[in-house]
Amino acid sequence: MEKTAEDYMYDDEADKRDAEWVESELQKGGKTDAVLSCPQCLTQICFECQRHARFAEQFRAQSVRHCEIRNDQLFVYGSRGLLEPKTERTPKGAEVFRLVECSKCQARVGVADSDGVYHLFSVVVGM
Ligand SMILES: [Zn+2]
Repeated sequence: MEKTAEDYMYDDEADKRDAEWVESELQKGGKTDAVLSCPQCLTQICFECQRHARFAEQFRAQSVRHCEIRNDQLFVYGSRGLLEPKTERTPKGAEVFRLVECSKCQARVGVADSDGVYHLFSVVVGM
């Protein structure tokens, strides 16, 4: 059978590309546990995060918006399991966290670890 113009216009790859696009968009929008906002100015700072397994008000995220990492404000986990400022007495090798602030109002929203993962715990949770 002779091919018609339509056969030539049909693009196999287009279907595949569409499916890939939908998949990636769904992943972007569908995998988050919550949308997080600054507690002070309510700027939305995170659209993709994971709720902490044990602490409902704590979230982990790979990327945030409208936030600044303060390289001059360092924290470590103290003996009571709480974050405290890094001091000269902090043992060597302790994991150091940097303060994360809202870039609009400088509210403290969480910390960033050495792998670039954000730990957000002072946030307003919405969907
Ligand atoms: Zn803010």
